[in-house]
Amino acid sequence: MSTPTSSATPSAPLRGRVAVITGASSGIGEATAEKLASLGARVVVLARRADRLHDLVERITKDGGTAVAIAADVTDTAAVQAAADRVEAELGGADLLLNNAGVMLPAPVEEVATGQWQQQIDLNVTGLMNVIGAFTPQLVRAGSERGVADLINTSSIAAQNIFPHFAVYSATKAYVTHLSRHLRAELGAKNVRVAALEPGIVGTELQGHVTDQGALDWLAGAKQSMEWLTPQDIAETIAFLATLPPRVNLQQITVMPTGQPS
Ligand code: NDP
Repeated sequence: MSTPTSSATPSAPLRGRVAVITGASSGIGEATAEKLASLGARVVVLARRADRLHDLVERITKDGGTAVAIAADVTDTAAVQAAADRVEAELGGADLLLNNAGVMLPAPVEEVATGQWQQQIDLNVTGLMNVIGAFTPQLVRAGSERGVADLINTSSIAAQNIFPHFAVYSATKAYVTHLSRHLRAELGAKNVRVAALEPGIVGTELQGHVTDQGALDWLAGAKQSMEWLTPQDIAETIAFLATLPPRVNLQQITVMPTGQPS
């Protein structure tokens, strides 16, 4: 069995690895694609906005990295499977998956914003599962052939703590964290490390989709009272866990802004 680090060097510890990143057209996914590529991984960047992915691939390539863009909607099961087939055919399969596409649409439950409830469930739960379904066979094969693979699911501190008006979003993220714990137990024996990543507030486009005035006011107050995390902070964390020795699985990683109390 060849080791995953056989072509790695101290300056390129992820050389030889193939990382698929969903939600890569902005925020955490975009920053992580740049970081993992800078460490030598070949990255596949997936989201709906093809123009943004194209620009990202150009930037990574200009910096000496390797990146492939796949424009796809993760709520479309067939499109996600086609993406996985392409990763298999062009890059020999993924051994790192950052399952990260998500949306946050808080509102008081009494507003009965069923469209927004469904949007969050469709993307944060069903979309996440589509990606797991399509890429798990590649991860398991990489675990068996190369000794390590990573499945990193982006959850949230909202999976743990209570945020009034964020009930549906928080519940989708509780799903992500609990699912990840179970999958870790299931896939660890196959050398697939599974992690739930739970950030506090990170300044990204995520907040830009919020329409509820109460939540917008809460976010504006939070912006005044503390320094938010940057997407690069989360990218550094993901790079850290991906470069640990294969025997080490960080199961659940909470990354908070220093000034965010809960
Ligand atoms: P962004 O809004 O910047 O990123 C969301 C990404 O998801 C975009 O690249 C978007 O691209 C993609 N996306 C949205 N819908 C789809 C879809 N149907 N199919 C494929 N891709 C889709 O926010 P963040 O970077 O902050 O969010 C990344 C993850 O981090 C989310 O899961 C979020 O819940 C989580 N998180 C964020 C926190 C924060 O404070 N920012 C805190 C805790 C967790 P496109 O529109 O091009 O498809």
